[in-house]
Amino acid sequence: MKQLKNSFQKRQQLKLFGTFLISFILLFLVLGAIVGFLFQHSIYQNVNQSLQIQKEQILGEGTPNRHPLKPQQRQKNGHQRPPISGAPFQTNIIVFNAAGKVLNRDVLGARNYQLFNQVKLNKNQLNQVTNLDFNTNQRTASQFRTLLLKVSGKSSQREYAGHYVLILINTDAEALAIHSIFRSLFITMIIFTLLATLLAFWLSRIGMRPIITAWHKQQEFSANAAHELRTPLAIIQNQLEYLLTKPHQPILAEAEKITISLNETSRMKALTEQLLTLARSDADVLQLKPSQVGLKTLSEQVTTPYLEIAASQHKSLRLETQATALITVDPDLIKQLIIILLDNAVKYTPAGGTIIFTTLVSNDHWGIKVSDTGCGIPDGSKKQIFDRFYRVDSARKKEQTGYGLGLSIANWITTQHHGKINVVDNHPQGSIFRLTFPRRVHYR
Ligand code: ADP
Repeated sequence: MKQLKNSFQKRQQLKLFGTFLISFILLFLVLGAIVGFLFQHSIYQNVNQSLQIQKEQILGEGTPNRHPLKPQQRQKNGHQRPPISGAPFQTNIIVFNAAGKVLNRDVLGARNYQLFNQVKLNKNQLNQVTNLDFNTNQRTASQFRTLLLKVSGKSSQREYAGHYVLILINTDAEALAIHSIFRSLFITMIIFTLLATLLAFWLSRIGMRPIITAWHKQQEFSANAAHELRTPLAIIQNQLEYLLTKPHQPILAEAEKITISLNETSRMKALTEQLLTLARSDADVLQLKPSQVGLKTLSEQVTTPYLEIAASQHKSLRLETQATALITVDPDLIKQLIIILLDNAVKYTPAGGTIIFTTLVSNDHWGIKVSDTGCGIPDGSKKQIFDRFYRVDSARKKEQTGYGLGLSIANWITTQHHGKINVVDNHPQGSIFRLTFPRRVHYR
């Protein structure tokens, strides 16, 4: 049993852990992807803006650049593009004729020309922003973002008129920044994954607690129910087996055996009804059927028959049900609640004792009070008596009938009506069960 419990617990915890971990990792991946994408996008947006400014200047649409053929480092916002080691230039312009020959070799300078000589005119890329990678020397590779323009022959900028102009902006700094942000993101991801693993483990342990408690209660409930059903079944089986050994006896001669069996059958019926009520309450399928009823009428309907029952057991029952009010309740459930309380009061009060049933009404509340001069309930058990199958030892010892389910049903009915139930000592002896309900209540 313990082993079963452990493996169930482990499996559930592992499932929870996996779910939490996967959710966290997915969340981090999405976060990382968004941050990475936004960063990359915003960083290249600056470069694209620079390309556009250069384009406007070359086509004569913007403010003419006084040194159009010199490497440009100034951006639209006036910031200097940061120089990077090994990158000899930031912005360059190559002028091609239609045949792809570089025309501004002089302006580029010998060193730059040597590098840019690798660039070929590709007319298909006209007006397109493209990326270009090439070796600046044996060891380093430079990245450029380029835009190819075709300048009209009528252009006022003579050096460009009628030619193809390729604007190249060095993006080594951007690539470096992107590389370092991705590296940082990667390291952050690893650290967060480790933290997420710990967090998922901790959360799965916390998350398991209510599941284990519910599972434990369910196990206990089934075990108790089976145990309680076994006793009457065994008695009935014994009686029937005995009767089978006396096939010729008249029924009257074995009336006692049959009565015992019938008593056990009705006890079992009561138990299964209680179990069913609790099972339905657990499954939340027991729907309240509220209606407006008179408190006085309802309580008198249920309590009057108990006058006779109490009298037959030499106990005195006093009904104080004068309070009048219209209450919105499920009448069947409230009747069941009163029956549970009165049954207990009569059951646990010895002959000669007194039971008082009182109804109370105030502006906002209505209530029920059942006091008795019975055996009373020890302080340590006052909360537990509302647990399923809990019975105070003295009740067991006195072999009072019952399964310890009545008060848990009473508690459930009270909660369903948004009420409160509690028990206090009656003086000099016995107990008082007090129940309070709101008069204005909205049920689901
Ligand atoms: P049971 O079927 O055993 O009466 P309940 O759930 O109704 O089950 O009550 C749980 C336990 O609470 C009882 O076994 C008994 O020990 C105690 N109890 C309930 N009502 C009274 C009472 N009026 N006086 C003394 N003990 C009570």
